[in-house]
Amino acid sequence: MAELLDKRQFYIDGKWVAPAAADDLKVIDPSTEEPVAVISLGGQADTDAAVAAAKRAFPGWSHTPPEQRLEYVRKILDIYKRRAEDIAWAITHEMGAPADMSIRDQVESGSSHIQNFIDAFGEFEFVRRHGPADAQTVISWEPIGVVALITPWNWPMNQVTLKVIPALLAGDTMILKPSEIAPLSSMVFAEVLDEAGLPPGVFNLVNGDGQGVGTQLTVHPDVEMISFTGSTRAGIQISRAAADGLKKVALELGGKGANLIFADADEKAVVRGARHCFYNSGQSCNAPTRMLVQRDIYDKAVDTAKEVAEKTAVASAHEAGRHIGPVVSKQQWEKIQDLIQKGIDEGARLVAGGTGLPEGVNRGYFVRPTVFADVSNDMTIAQEEIFGPVLSIIPFEDEEDAVRIANDTRYGLTNYVQTQDGERRNRLARQLRSGMVEMNGQSRAPGSFFGGIGRSGRAREGGIWGIEEFMDSKAISGWH
Ligand code: NAD
Repeated sequence: MAELLDKRQFYIDGKWVAPAAADDLKVIDPSTEEPVAVISLGGQADTDAAVAAAKRAFPGWSHTPPEQRLEYVRKILDIYKRRAEDIAWAITHEMGAPADMSIRDQVESGSSHIQNFIDAFGEFEFVRRHGPADAQTVISWEPIGVVALITPWNWPMNQVTLKVIPALLAGDTMILKPSEIAPLSSMVFAEVLDEAGLPPGVFNLVNGDGQGVGTQLTVHPDVEMISFTGSTRAGIQISRAAADGLKKVALELGGKGANLIFADADEKAVVRGARHCFYNSGQSCNAPTRMLVQRDIYDKAVDTAKEVAEKTAVASAHEAGRHIGPVVSKQQWEKIQDLIQKGIDEGARLVAGGTGLPEGVNRGYFVRPTVFADVSNDMTIAQEEIFGPVLSIIPFEDEEDAVRIANDTRYGLTNYVQTQDGERRNRLARQLRSGMVEMNGQSRAPGSFFGGIGRSGRAREGGIWGIEEFMDSKAISGWH
């Protein structure tokens, strides 16, 4: 076994410090099941020290001119790009994204978010005037204060940059608590911020789990806002815990996206949808996991999806190439196995994959790309977020039927539509209940927001909306 990286430090008040008193946790490489690093899980004293540092830094940072804050962010982007290989290495070892994908997509998502925020900030109006010229009310956008940023493991840099960068631009000071399962890339990110020379206390990082540092941040009297990405279960706990302090809570939670494929869809629609579902080993909240297919092309679509699953190579994240890697942990692997078994038990037709490890594999948390056909929308696999490479195909008769099935979920993150009929696209864009709708393979334009409704949470991340999320608005009258 290679020597473990010792990462038992937190970044507080502009320095790397030893934890006050903490338990150790090993970070496990999901491709090998071997530990790669050891981190500390912080406790109340560490949380308090980080919040106190952020509180001390707030008056200075919130009064730093916006152009100066933007300069820091430009510097962060340069250093982030220079550290790309280190960040990719960390992501591959902590959560199992294949090496090529880590650098090409995972790390890249962070740099493009930083760039998009730089662009959006240029257009951001801190002061907006309202009412008649002689009696105007000025709406002023102001920093919130100390914010806690709690992130998951599946797209670490995507989620961290979507929170840290707008919070910095807004003038807030912050404590980041990354997922304890995948903390390494965030620690490299903290080194990037350190090198950028931010004033001490503006950005702090404390590792810990949800019940410890996560909850301590959520209830801390000096934390004004919690920006959380993760499971719906934890989102509910956080909302409850934050209620006593009436804190602002921004939640990005799970999803169960429907992909509506009509008979007139382009010929690549099914391949594109199946690949998207398996991408990142199915560990994306916006994955199109329910493929709704119009009856006329149903049998052909099932055959095509089966073929995509069988051609999707599964291999170690350390190998080069465009395969998918393992899922993040033993716990996730077991949860996915249970859900696949439930699909079989509840009567869905298994056409590819299934339970157990892929052929020839005897270690690592690898899941077989799995396709179920003849799924009914009330089955567990159609209602629960699986977070693995598992596609459920559901037939529909007509547009009305498709909308009814798509909306029959408590989640509401992204829905997808594939049809050549423009009128139909316009109707569906309105009728589908979700924060985002993506049609005919076109993804969101850079700088637009990411966010959902219902049990997917109602935060808005990215672009000017993502900056507003980290600010309070104040209506000032009599100021000309
Ligand atoms: P998780 O909810 O278990 O953990 C996420 C983070 O919250 C971790 O840092 C964890 O330590 C912390 N946490 C857990 N319980 C907490 C509590 N009670 N109080 C405070 N902090 C707590 O989620 P996960 O397993 O890391 O991530 C997977 C989930 O994230 C999936 O459900 C996925 O859909 C969701 N997700 C959503 C989006 C989105 O933008 N909507 C993006 C990515 C992932």
